[in-house]
Formats: sequence, structure tokens, C-alpha cells
Amino acid sequence: MIETMIRMFEIFTSHLEILTPLFCGLFAIYAIWYFTSAKHYAPLTLQEVKLLWKIHKKDAQCRARKWRKICHKDRIVGFKCECGYKHLHKKPIV
Ligand SMILES: [Zn+2]
Repeated sequence: MIETMIRMFEIFTSHLEILTPLFCGLFAIYAIWYFTSAKHYAPLTLQEVKLLWKIHKKDAQCRARKWRKICHKDRIVGFKCECGYKHLHKKPIV
């Protein structure tokens, strides 16, 4: 039993130079997929955007007085603050 386990471990370690790039490659593909296709814009209401802007102002100690809506297909998906801060509300599709 132990001998088989050692044997399996030997096989595994001898193939490590093949397996490591394989796992790295798979992880890279997954990461790219996750950051590109898996997200879509989540619509926000005007109240939510205003609230998020207030939170940003408090967090970043931002003194800007203006902000503008970021729209995507007639829906508010975020805002851009006068200071340059941009917030986009996205959520991943599960
Ligand atoms: Zn700001």
C-alpha cells in the first residue's frame, strides 16, 4: 500500500515539469475568462448612484461637487466624479 503511494508520488514528481505549466496555463485562461466575459453591468438607481458618490467622497475625502452618470444601454451603471474617480457597478454572472 505504502509502496504504491510512493510509486504514485514518484510518477507525479517526475511529471511536475509538465504539470506545473499546465496548471499555470489553466489558471491564466480562467483568470482571463473571469475578467472579460464573466461580468456584465448591473443597473443602479439614481438614489444608489448618489449614495455611492457620497460614500466615495467620504472614503476618499474628495471635495468634488460634480459627478456624472455613466450609462450603458440607457441604464445607469456607475458614475464619474469630478476628481477623476470612476465607479462602475459590475457583477459576475454565476
Ligand atoms: Zn471624487
